[in-house]
Amino acid sequence: MDVARLNLSHGELDEHITRLRQLRTIADSMGSTLGIMADLPGPKVRIGEFAEPVHLDINDEMELVPGGGNSEKGRLSVGYDGLLTDVQLGDRLAIGDGTIVMEVVDHNGSSLRARVLYGGTVQGRPGLHIPSDRLKLSTPTSDDLRLLDAMVENDVDMIALSFVRSAHDVRRTGLEPAPRGPLVVAKIETRAAVDNLDGIITESGAIMVARGDLGTECSIQDLPHLQKAIISRCIALGRPAITATQMLESMITAPAPTRAEASDVANAVFDGTSAVMLSAETAIGHDPAHVVATMASIAQRADQEFNYETWGKDLRREHLTERQGLDAAVTDVMTMATWQAAKEINAKAILCISRSGFTVRAIARFRPEAPILGITPEDRTIRQLSMSWGATTIKMDRIDDNVTTVHKALELAKAQGHIRTGDAVAVLAGSTATIGATDTLRMVRCP
Ligand code: PEP
Repeated sequence: MDVARLNLSHGELDEHITRLRQLRTIADSMGSTLGIMADLPGPKVRIGEFAEPVHLDINDEMELVPGGGNSEKGRLSVGYDGLLTDVQLGDRLAIGDGTIVMEVVDHNGSSLRARVLYGGTVQGRPGLHIPSDRLKLSTPTSDDLRLLDAMVENDVDMIALSFVRSAHDVRRTGLEPAPRGPLVVAKIETRAAVDNLDGIITESGAIMVARGDLGTECSIQDLPHLQKAIISRCIALGRPAITATQMLESMITAPAPTRAEASDVANAVFDGTSAVMLSAETAIGHDPAHVVATMASIAQRADQEFNYETWGKDLRREHLTERQGLDAAVTDVMTMATWQAAKEINAKAILCISRSGFTVRAIARFRPEAPILGITPEDRTIRQLSMSWGATTIKMDRIDDNVTTVHKALELAKAQGHIRTGDAVAVLAGSTATIGATDTLRMVRCP
């Protein structure tokens, strides 16, 4: 694995902080780079705890009451004060990741009645998906901001924001730009987020296609196409994209994935995803390490079949034509030139000298065939790049003037065995102290 997600919708803050520290200690002891992402719950409505698993059959009817008590078959406690005012007759509500769906059939003033359309087993404290345009809650919630502060204090690398609807929601985190602050991962799981996609991507450090809730908000027929569109827009704008939820769901209990699941992981790679994510498979599954290994091997195999040539050309033709501002335009043309030049001279590596990781992410969108080496003095940048496609990172003590830094970067890459004397290498960097433009390319021979 490259990144560990702590899902703050479950468990207590103290447990997550302990786990975060354990993850750091273990990764350090293994000499591994591990990014840690804290996923804020957002205005997620939860159903009160079931003492034991309960099966809900099609046409079962249930009473839904607002409040914090336990739930049982026939009666669900819903942790949302606005349940009786915001939810309307005919609304569809989904439990968990959307497998169990109910329709509201009656409203008697003190509770709702809902009929099960698709049944299944519920356990624990599942989420209840209420259509996001009904919810009066905004994101991040005050509880999210409290959790965010605690996670930032503990040096978390990435923060995932749930149920984002606009660029304004992302700005409300008030975080310092990465790498000083964590990389903000906006989860695309509402219809409004799909409508405001470009603005959200521009304000964010990365995007997650959160298929669980998105598949409930939008029609299931639209979901594969939304996944493709969101990933391609996100990559074009130079941010990593994560594809999440139910990727190897059957492996919560089974030792091998279904054929459809294996295809799903490979197809996410072909869609251009930077990362694939596991949820319940590793959180409550019977063999988490085996699931990660299975997913990694499917993704690696798909990487071999990926059409790198077509991807870069399509990116240039379809996405890099309209530019917003000079910095973005300079980055677009310089990374395009690097991708082209690295191919023409059969470069053995593309070295990116980058304080924030921006340059690495900007060239990674082309999916160049030459390995990308991200060279940075910042430990947090190294961990944040763990989510980027194809980036190997190398720590450098500091960034000096361009000539000295390029020389040092080549020596470091050679010492670590990535390049050899005589190799053609492309070196890409931002020459200014500001983050946000990649403006220098040198084609060199490794000394
Ligand atoms: C999702 O909805 O797909 C998702 C990743 O979010 P969560 O795990 O918080 O439900």
